[in-house]
Amino acid sequence: MTRAADGADLWTAPVDVTRATYPGRVRTAGTSGVTRTVVGHLEDGTEVVVRRSRRRTRTVSAFLERGQFVVAIPDRLTEGQEREWVRTMTERAATATRARRSDERLERRAEELARTVLRISERPTAVSWVDNQHKRWGSCTQQTGQIRISRDLAEMPAHVLDAVLVHELAHLREYSHGPAFQDLVQRYPRMDEAMAFLDGVSWQRQHG
Ligand SMILES: [Zn+2]
Repeated sequence: MTRAADGADLWTAPVDVTRATYPGRVRTAGTSGVTRTVVGHLEDGTEVVVRRSRRRTRTVSAFLERGQFVVAIPDRLTEGQEREWVRTMTERAATATRARRSDERLERRAEELARTVLRISERPTAVSWVDNQHKRWGSCTQQTGQIRISRDLAEMPAHVLDAVLVHELAHLREYSHGPAFQDLVQRYPRMDEAMAFLDGVSWQRQHG
């Protein structure tokens, strides 16, 4: 998950130029060719600003700048198109924020398990939920220290998610599933129970 850094482009979307129509009333741009209008607020109170630019012709971008959420659009877009883009971009911002908060919770849980259950010094560089991982419950990339957890686990009992986290964390130390790895993961008391649960889910998916 990319963190929203101040001033960094969060999203850039190409504008469908063939559908762009020209409004009867165009807001006049200043000498710089740029106008800024506050059009609303995000859930957390951040001001939403529309920046119309004559120089920008083909793309719409949204980014955080000096504490404001800026939606930068070509000056020739209509007010209707402007409203549409503001809605699209603020929805994307809200989704990204929710995803980031949920990844942060997962990361904190992983840290806790590494410290209190596995008692290893290795830590993942990132822990994140993934939507496109249905065949594997989790994965660990040892070279980068990244752990990914299938979002399917979000709705399962907490000890099942914990067990998958413990499994992936153990891979930070042990590459294979050999005896040393088994010793590590068995430090989680409900490991066998959780694995049996997941076997049951997999079975049902194949036969359901
Ligand atoms: Zn494994």
